[in-house]
Amino acid sequence: PGIAGLIAGLAVDVPDFPQPGIVFKDLTPLFADGAAFREIVDATVAHYGVGSFDVVAGIEARGFVMAAAMAYAAGVGVVPVRKAGKLPRATHAAQYALEYGSAALEVHTDAFLPGQRVLVVDDVLATGGTAEATLGLVERAGGVVAGLTVMLELEFLGGRQRLAAHPPHALLRV
Ligand code: 5GP
Repeated sequence: PGIAGLIAGLAVDVPDFPQPGIVFKDLTPLFADGAAFREIVDATVAHYGVGSFDVVAGIEARGFVMAAAMAYAAGVGVVPVRKAGKLPRATHAAQYALEYGSAALEVHTDAFLPGQRVLVVDDVLATGGTAEATLGLVERAGGVVAGLTVMLELEFLGGRQRLAAHPPHALLRV
């Protein structure tokens, strides 16, 4: 079935999480399966190619899991994009609307060298608010967006339309 089928087979639909009416796609079984995890990490790195990005930025918290593995595989560093109040030094911050509620993300002001090519990763692209906020933070911190990648894109929520400047790469689109 290929990598899309692998993801579809291991993702678990969780009705009414975190709120009634939301069907949450739980991808943690993909992280827990060693062969699947290696495949999704390697496929994502291969899509961009080693040498095409200088650092991987992971979005808290499931993005961290992907980001660390991708960075290790590519021999580059990893930068955390965190929820408000978690990073200890000076940050850039961005407020954004979620599929459910609102939130804020932060990145250290000195997280990137000027012009560093940053590959941004998260587990799921839904409305695109999280990704849009993160791309803005990367640029405010002096980075250049090299790409935006997720394991799963929920197409019906229209995130891709908000991210025209940096079309996302998704291993599976549903
Ligand atoms: P967006 O900002 O695109 O609406 O939501 C994406 C963010 O919320 C990502 O950080 C993602 O981890 C989380 N998220 C939203 N919906 C889901 C879902 O169904 N499954 C998972 N695993 N994460 C989700």
